Amino acid sequence: MIEMFYPVIIFVFGAIAGSFLNVCIHRMPRELSIVWPGSFCPKCKIPIPWYENIPLLSYLILRGKCFRCRRPISFRYFFVELLNAVSWLLIWRSCGLSAAFAIAAVFVSMMIVVTLTDLETGFIPHGVTWTGMIFGVCVSVVNARLVPQGLWYHKLLASVLGLVTGAATIFAVAELGKLLFGKRKVRLAPGTVITIKDNRLLIDQPGAPLASRAGGVSGFFQRLADTLTRGQYLDPSCSSIAWDDIFNRSSDRIVFRAATLRFAGGNFKDVEVEISEKSFRVAGKEHALADAGVIEGRAEAMVLSREAMGFGDLCLMAMIGTFLGPWLTVLVFMFAPFIALPYALFCRFAKKQETIPYGPFLAVMAVIFYFAGPEILDLFSTLYGV
Ligand SMILES: [Zn+2]
Repeated sequence: MIEMFYPVIIFVFGAIAGSFLNVCIHRMPRELSIVWPGSFCPKCKIPIPWYENIPLLSYLILRGKCFRCRRPISFRYFFVELLNAVSWLLIWRSCGLSAAFAIAAVFVSMMIVVTLTDLETGFIPHGVTWTGMIFGVCVSVVNARLVPQGLWYHKLLASVLGLVTGAATIFAVAELGKLLFGKRKVRLAPGTVITIKDNRLLIDQPGAPLASRAGGVSGFFQRLADTLTRGQYLDPSCSSIAWDDIFNRSSDRIVFRAATLRFAGGNFKDVEVEISEKSFRVAGKEHALADAGVIEGRAEAMVLSREAMGFGDLCLMAMIGTFLGPWLTVLVFMFAPFIALPYALFCRFAKKQETIPYGPFLAVMAVIFYFAGPEILDLFSTLYGV
């Protein structure tokens, strides 16, 4: 009799879990506790009682507004609850109520948190990926996705190999990226003022340069050719960069030729400036950043170090590996660029955004391969007889 209500029960629990995922998405990148305090409005910070915090329904009844301050609550809250509820329902339809259901439900929910957090903040919380890794390895012994006909230790081995493979793919790409794109020369609009103060790099460009303003198809190709031949104009919205985002490695530097330069040590004209994390070098002489006060200069180009992929992506792929095993993890890594590339091109040339988060594409591909992977592997083996 109760079987009749299973779909409703699964959906409701999925929505309740989705509500918790929203808490994770909001709090984890801010390094706030996910268990205490209870829910509060992100705008007015007033606690929300449980009867105003019913998944899906509250959002609809209150029409997406906080009951106290009447300010709009992000549609993401409703979307994540619905997405998680529907996902759990679909997983239940394919797995029934089983260990496979529990594993898949946790995996998909974690991928939802990773995707939304990375999209909103460009940050993948280690709290999710590290918990996921431990969970993935622990449940691997009963995870039939890993080695369908294998014994428990075959599955455990596949899970651990998946972890290593996932981490290795991103590590290899990050190292390769340093070799290929380790330094990035950016052009700046004429008259740009570069200021360094309070551990930030401030770049004040007087208006976007003409070349990047041209629209349409011809503008697109003009920018593409321009970018390939002479380096890219720095995104004008990218006007204030925190020190930590520039100096990841001890070898990282900012280098530019300053038409004029001014700091506590004096005034300079047409000098080469090389800045590291704690000091800088002007005309062959080393100065401590702490003693220089505000540094202000004019330049038309600048060389920055850059990271191809971050540690967050590495942890994410390692976690994905524990659920998918080594072969599918490699496929996730190989296929993710196919969905990321169109989005990256769109962001670069339509929205003039420099970098895109890569985590969401890895996460989406991982979910696709988690469910369709065995069939895809079978297809490969029939096609190539491996
Ligand atoms: Zn409020």
